[in-house]
Amino acid sequence: MKMKVVVIGTGHVGLVTCASMAAIGHDVVGVDADREKIEALHAGAMPFHEPSLAELVHEQTGARRLVFTGDAESATRAADVVFICVGTPPKSNGEANLIFVEEAARAVARHAEGRTLIVEKSTVPAGTAARMHRAIRLERGPDPELEVASNPEFLREGLAVADAMEPERILVGAEAPWAFEMLRELYDPLVRAGSRLIETDIATAELAKHACNAFLALKISYANALARVCERAGADVVAVAEVMGADPRIGRAFLDAGLGFGGSCFPKDLQAFGHLATALGYDFPLLREIERLNVEAVDAVLDKVREGLWNLHGKRIALLGLAFKPGTDDIRSSPPLELARRLMEEGARVVGYDPQAMANAKEELPDLGLAQDAYDALEGAHCAILATDWPEFADLDLGRMRGVMAAPLVVDGRNQFDPAVMAEAGFAYYPTGRTPVHPR
Ligand code: NAD
Repeated sequence: MKMKVVVIGTGHVGLVTCASMAAIGHDVVGVDADREKIEALHAGAMPFHEPSLAELVHEQTGARRLVFTGDAESATRAADVVFICVGTPPKSNGEANLIFVEEAARAVARHAEGRTLIVEKSTVPAGTAARMHRAIRLERGPDPELEVASNPEFLREGLAVADAMEPERILVGAEAPWAFEMLRELYDPLVRAGSRLIETDIATAELAKHACNAFLALKISYANALARVCERAGADVVAVAEVMGADPRIGRAFLDAGLGFGGSCFPKDLQAFGHLATALGYDFPLLREIERLNVEAVDAVLDKVREGLWNLHGKRIALLGLAFKPGTDDIRSSPPLELARRLMEEGARVVGYDPQAMANAKEELPDLGLAQDAYDALEGAHCAILATDWPEFADLDLGRMRGVMAAPLVVDGRNQFDPAVMAEAGFAYYPTGRTPVHPR
């Protein structure tokens, strides 16, 4: 059945939610407090890079199933379901800052008319829906027609449209039977197409999202710790990951050693989950260790650059990749940018190139040099660092690369290149968790 859906927050999660909800037949209003963002969306511009999203948004706005507004009040009045997709950034102590969630929930409480389900899609600590419920009650008094549910988002930036249109699982946590019923109806087209709907209580749904992100981060940090041991033992971490991944109990995904994880989710969610556990009286040091290993992953790449270059002062370094992962222009907690910052602190001249993230990177790091393309970044470089595994970097012409560089030194923070091929091409090559090679 067609429903009236409002999405508060049209960022990475909210905009994808708007487009996918409209695509499965609902009438959707996207609301954002950022006027410029709404104006840009009215003009058909996307506030960030996400493959296929512009096409889907244009299709749905063209069909009048999706509109955008800055006016939460009128949008909310007619809604059946209101998704809260606002940011939940970390406070300085790691705790999730839930002020935007509270503001959005209170606004809905003030304006909703008739039966309305508020659905938290933002990643929040367990117990947040209960707090929202209390805030709502303070705002408008007890009202059995206004309920809160949890529906954590599992999309991956760079693959967000596919993830939203064909999710492996849809997790809904609710209390009132009518809330479950509404969520089943809302997602019915996706479930009929094969997605698995998992229903739990609200705290379980909230906690499951943190549990998933912490576990994925754990796999990456585990691979990075393995890389440190492999480097010392003369073993090959890529081959070790293949062996591990052949065991279905382990799985191959997220076992790629490299520069570590970043983005707007894993770093902050690890901290928020640890903070929640501590607040609940349980110390969870494993979560802190995952973070420590992630910092160490950047240190390890820096050590290789120092090993190859000796002193960094005055050396030109080409940084290939600035986004925290390929497929996005997102630079939030990006390991490549952390690396750039530290190289510049040691006096290196860093010239970066990224297919999508240059404008965002420049805003974050104004002293970073920017190049037109990868070869432009490599021109005159004493060292190249592969920092984000955009597929186009794997296709670089190694002869041309070597020709434009001042010295043939490559540090591979994502194991994009084949060591034997790099040696053949005349590079000194430092991969991650594998034996370095030197030109033949
Ligand atoms: P974002 O910063 O891209 O977008 C948040 C948006 O909310 C912004 O456009 C902001 O202007 C708007 N906003 C804030 N307060 C508002 C208010 N009161 N009313 C209307 N709009 C308001 O954030 P994001 O990356 O989309 O993340 C949102 C949430 O989803 C976070 O909790 C995040 O952890 C979670 N999440 C993110 C991803 C991801 O890949 N980015 C994946 C899964 C879950």
